[in-house]
Amino acid sequence: LGSELDEQVALVTGASSGIGSATAASLASRGARVVLASRREDELEELEARIEDDGGEALVVETDVTNDDDIDNVVETTLDEYGRIDILVNNAGLMPLAHIAEGDRETLQTTIDVNLSGLIKLTHAVVPTMIDQESGYIVNVSSVVGRFLQPNSSHYNATKAGVKTFGDSLRLDVAEEGIHVATIEPGSVDTELLDHIPDDELQSDVREPVGSMESLAPEDIARTITFVVTQPPRVDINEVLVRPIDQV
Ligand code: NDP
Repeated sequence: LGSELDEQVALVTGASSGIGSATAASLASRGARVVLASRREDELEELEARIEDDGGEALVVETDVTNDDDIDNVVETTLDEYGRIDILVNNAGLMPLAHIAEGDRETLQTTIDVNLSGLIKLTHAVVPTMIDQESGYIVNVSSVVGRFLQPNSSHYNATKAGVKTFGDSLRLDVAEEGIHVATIEPGSVDTELLDHIPDDELQSDVREPVGSMESLAPEDIARTITFVVTQPPRVDINEVLVRPIDQV
């Protein structure tokens, strides 16, 4: 195990699969105690066991980021258990793409609730602790679509652009408290994300270009996030765009 993050506590949302799972494992391998937060408790417990088998420390807190009580609970449970929060990785997200005329209203709302409202509310719940500590890292997972737009994604693109604007604005308020804010913008990463596209035809259309290139592995983004949070305190990595070389 590495020791750069010894004694530090990292809260990772969407830790049950993909980027969040790989990130939690990576931070744990550097010595962080990781809190695994999302809805699928079984997957979180599997990851907890893996981290502990490798000599790390993890805590599962079943969390739906669209539920205000769950947001309060994950922060309170983390503080009860570990007494601090050094790193917040706001990674939970959904990508149920659809043409604006075809997606249903509930899907639009859920996308905003998870990708944007949940991220903002959890940050709001964590920041006072980081202000007391006079330090912290908030890492928000946006997307390449925050910069390069794609069709059939207007609601999703809006949430990811919102994540970027939220982070850039947040930094203005919290940098002087010693809190770092980073926006991560992954290109195509091989995860469960495309499974959320409700329309089968659109799902296969989106999979086609993705299938013809070598996507990033979740570990590639995990490594990027770990790099961001292991800098000297004077360094604030604002933003990282990471694409597969075939997607450039
Ligand atoms: P996955 O589908 O593998 O992971 C999404 C995670 O979000 C799951 O762990 C899921 O956990 C969690 N999640 C979904 N809804 C909620 C909720 N209501 N409350 C708590 N957690 C929730 O996909 P990725 O790993 O790819 O996605 C992670 C992030 O990366 C997302 O924000 C996505 O937009 C972003 N991203 C991904 C890209 C890609 O190509 N894969 C490209 C650019 C950005 P559970 O079901 O257990 O709640």
